[in-house]
This record gives sequence, C-alpha cells and structure tokens, in this order.
Amino acid sequence: MIAAADFKITKAEHSKLTDINLENIPFGKYFTDHMLEVDYEDGEWKNAEIKPYQPLLMAPSLAAIHYGQSIFEGIKAYKSPSGEAFIFRPHDNFKRFNQSAERMQMPTVPEDIFMKGMQLLVDLDRSWIPEMEDHSLYIRPFMFSTDEMIGVRPSDTYKFMIILSPTGPYYNMPMRIYVEEQYVRAVPGGSGYAKAAGNYGAAMYPTAIAKKNGYDQVLWTDAFEHRYVQECGTMNVFFIIGDKAITPDLQSGTILAGVTRDSVIKVLKDMGITVEERPLSIDEIIEAHKAGTLREVFGTGTAATISFIKELRYEEYTMLFDVENWATAPEVKSRMNAIRYGNTADKHCWMMKV
Ligand SMILES: *Cc1c(COP(=O)(O)O)cnc(C)c1O
Repeated sequence: MIAAADFKITKAEHSKLTDINLENIPFGKYFTDHMLEVDYEDGEWKNAEIKPYQPLLMAPSLAAIHYGQSIFEGIKAYKSPSGEAFIFRPHDNFKRFNQSAERMQMPTVPEDIFMKGMQLLVDLDRSWIPEMEDHSLYIRPFMFSTDEMIGVRPSDTYKFMIILSPTGPYYNMPMRIYVEEQYVRAVPGGSGYAKAAGNYGAAMYPTAIAKKNGYDQVLWTDAFEHRYVQECGTMNVFFIIGDKAITPDLQSGTILAGVTRDSVIKVLKDMGITVEERPLSIDEIIEAHKAGTLREVFGTGTAATISFIKELRYEEYTMLFDVENWATAPEVKSRMNAIRYGNTADKHCWMMKV
C-alpha cells in the first residue's frame, strides 16, 4: 500500500503557466507543470512519483505499441466562485478504469495510488484550473504495458500515469450525425465497455468517411442488424421522445458506461422526467420523428458534457431538429454546470474537494 507520504514529489523549477493564457485554450493541447508516474513490476506497484511533465524514454519493442494493452480515463476538475477546487465523480472513473484493466488483462490500480495520486497532482497544479465559465482542468489517467519484448502475451510490467490539461469550451456546435450501417464500434463479448486505446483507433476510419461526407460523427448501431443504436462517436446518446428520455441500456457490454450518462439520467429524474434504459431501434426513432414526438437528441461525455444533435441521417431519410427551441437538454446542461461550478447544492455528492 502506498500512502500519501510515499509519493516522491519533485517540483518543477519554473511554472509554464506564465507563458500560457488559459482563456479559450484548445482541448488537450497544453499540459500542466507536473505528472504522476507509477511502475508495476514483480507483481506490485512501486516508484510512485510526481515530477515535472516530461517525455518518456521507451524501447521500440515496448509491448503497448505493438499489441495495445493500453487504457485511459477522462475526468474534470473545476473551480468554484470562491476559488475552491473540486473533481467531478472521480471515484466512478477509478472503478471504470479497473474494469477496463481487467478486460485488457492488466493489473488493477489500488485506490490509494489512483485517488491519492490524482489529488496530490491536482493540488500541486491547482493554479492551472481555469476560473472562466465553461473552462476546466481535464485529468487523463492512463496505463500501458511496458515489457520490452514482442511476444503476444500479457506484459509483466506496466506504467500508470496521470497528466493534466487545462481546457476551454469544447467544440460544441450542434452536430450532424450519420447512422452507421457498415462499420461497427462494439460487439457483445468485445471490449466496447472498456476505455481501451484500440477501440478509438478502430473508430477513426469510419468516422473519417462520415466527415468526408459532411457529418460530424457517426451514430453506431449493433453489429448484427444495424438496427439498435449504441453511441454517438465517443459519447453516449439520449433521445427525448414524447415526455420520456430514452438511452440504450448497458446489458450487452457494447456501450461505455459514461459517468456523464449516469449523471444526466439522475438530473433528468430530478426534473421529473421518466428515463428508460432499453434497446432503442432506428425504426422507433424514425416512427417517432414521423409522428412529431421525437423532440431532442443529444450526446453526453466528459469532454463536451452535452452536445446537441441538429441532424440525424439514416440512409435517405434526414431528421432535422430545431435546437434553438429545445427545453430539456439545455436545462440538463445548466443544472450540471451549476453543480460542477459550485453554484448550487451538490445533492448527489458528486464533487470531491481537492
Ligand atoms: C469516455 C466515453 C464516453 C463518455 O463517458 P464519460 O464518463 O461520460 O466521459 C462515452 N462513450 C465512449 C466510447 C467513451 O470512450
């Protein structure tokens, strides 16, 4: 077990913060002064260290590069009006991280290392948490295999790291979405429920085709019939049909169980809206659109929180939405923001103080 005192902390001599304007900073481009690095070898985690952000030195035979034992998480920290720092639901990400680790036959990371390490790191770089509206500090924990050997087998050694990136408003224009019927993201029995690096690499080709055709993202459907909707790009997806909210259920393991998804479900319920988690077919969506009851469609995820969908295209059928006049998604978004920026009571206890 590694206690807080067991983290070796080496501080950067100069902060890079003096050279960077945090306002409207692009997502994922700038990193803070420090990073966390912990090694797994001989069956245990050791060398827990927080040190200046710097490149890694690695062998060309590094296992992760060849066979993809590599997983990650995405979490955000916010500053309240009084200047206090909070992290949004990190415990849920910690649990999901270890579920991803198990699926990829990697060691799990103990809570003391993941949670305590994150807290120490965010505390050290707390001046990097932007105070502007819609800004936050993106936290990226990740783990990869480090054996220097090209044999297809689970690695004996791993690195767990956390890096931090200040971020402004995510590219958040209403999206045009193409319903994907040829390529698939996830299958039952596959790794779709894990935040494993390879899932994202495999999605880039179909996404690039959709972009070439003028769409922002694809709506993934099931592998067998291409009928049941799964996720929208790297976001979970919600449909407001009549007076209910519907989102695909997690049963088949083809959907990444988003922390934002779970939060949105709870906020919708707070608003008195019935939420159904169940299989949802494109036929039901089109039928609702024809009947005039398909009111709103939106994606949810840590990076963008809520992304409105203004167009959904299925084969030759186009569904257009008047996002300006929506009631539900904007209300969910503003309630989520109020909680995260400390402007309202945190009744679900989602914010962890740093
Ligand atoms: C990370 C991710 C999400 C969203 O999860 P959050 O915990 O809400 O950020 C949804 N789908 C995929 C495929 C993801 O990788």
